[in-house]
Amino acid sequence: MRIDTKCVQSGYRPKNGEPRMLPITQSTTFKYDSTEHMGKLFALEEPGYFYTRLANPTNDYVADKIRDLEGGAAAMLTSSGQAAMFYAVINLLGAGDHFISTAEIYGGTHNLFGVTLKKLGVDVTFVPTDISEEELSSLVRENTKCIYGETVANPALSVLDIEKFARVAHKHGLPLIVDNTFPTPVNCRPFEWGADIVVHSTTKYLDGHDMGVGGCIVDSGNFDWEASGRFPGLTTPDESYHGVIYTKQFGKAAYITKATAQIMRDFGSIQSPMNAFLLNIGIETLALRMERHCRNAERIAEYLSKHPKINKVTYPGLKGDKYYDLAKKYMPNGTCGVLTFEVKGDVAAAVRFMDSLKLAMIATHVADARTCVLHPASHTHRQLSPSERLAAGVTDGLIRFSVGIENCDDIIEDLSQALEKV
Ligand code: PLP
Repeated sequence: MRIDTKCVQSGYRPKNGEPRMLPITQSTTFKYDSTEHMGKLFALEEPGYFYTRLANPTNDYVADKIRDLEGGAAAMLTSSGQAAMFYAVINLLGAGDHFISTAEIYGGTHNLFGVTLKKLGVDVTFVPTDISEEELSSLVRENTKCIYGETVANPALSVLDIEKFARVAHKHGLPLIVDNTFPTPVNCRPFEWGADIVVHSTTKYLDGHDMGVGGCIVDSGNFDWEASGRFPGLTTPDESYHGVIYTKQFGKAAYITKATAQIMRDFGSIQSPMNAFLLNIGIETLALRMERHCRNAERIAEYLSKHPKINKVTYPGLKGDKYYDLAKKYMPNGTCGVLTFEVKGDVAAAVRFMDSLKLAMIATHVADARTCVLHPASHTHRQLSPSERLAAGVTDGLIRFSVGIENCDDIIEDLSQALEKV
């Protein structure tokens, strides 16, 4: 199946006489006839469901659809993107360990890595996305466990050179983890370029309709944990799970099985089956929506780049953008619908522009079917001083604009009338 067909058909495939729509298994628990049968499930000796915190059929069908879209071996859903990012790294490391992440990542992930994981004794080195291969390689330590980046960063919109990062990671026996939230697997499949694990905030394009917060982790199944020698948690007995050796017992599903049996068991950030059901409906139209998001955003970036009241447009799909060539390589069909631009003038000018918009909604959100807009100086970066804001690349006039799937002429007319008020 091609990717747009997979969006519709993958995951739940009903057998004869079964419901066509993905059933919602709204049950915390599952009933068994014998002690022995239930025991085998606890021992991971037989596949099956026994408690929804560990696995639920509705969630598994949706995880399997995302796994298929990414071209991976195994996947799991989480309650949020944040939980997915946390689980993806904590499944590999602990106190005393180190990892490397690009600096231009989503603010919540940056805080998780740089503040909260630090408190747990995990050290992170943040590097610029444009770091050279040699420099990146020189930062790997004996206790380094993975390298992390975003395909298209939120909100910097820098594009990760996946092949470069994968080369360095693999040279040192490390997996590369990529947050593929913005392009989605419709526009980029990081495994095809050497990434080992993909994470998603499904809250964004995969859902696409503001319905449910969620996350997903997909493992390519390609990383050789045993050959690396850096991951005893996967390759030696897990005493917290009666001595199971994940790589021996589960092969290509080792990483996801450990993340489920150990990390989800202990932290418990499951996605509700109802949200997984809604997510599945969102994904059915993902390919259609991504195409429209990208065509709309490309036109709007073009329009804004020529507008006399705009200083600068950042969009990797815009010719002349610093990341245009990398975007064309990794995402030939388009990047995403999110762009940033600077309204000329002070904070008041940007606020006037924001408040004059009629169609675009002011919302702390991106990647929605509806166009939405945010003024970082007034919103996400409000607590910072003007000089701290500038250091974070947030100028007074900076606008984050998430282009929806409405008719592009309507969005441009809305922008045009709001810019007239500036
Ligand atoms: N990763 C990226 C690229 C994001 O944009 C976000 C949220 O905006 C997250 C992760 C966190 O996801 P969630 O809000 O679903 O927890």
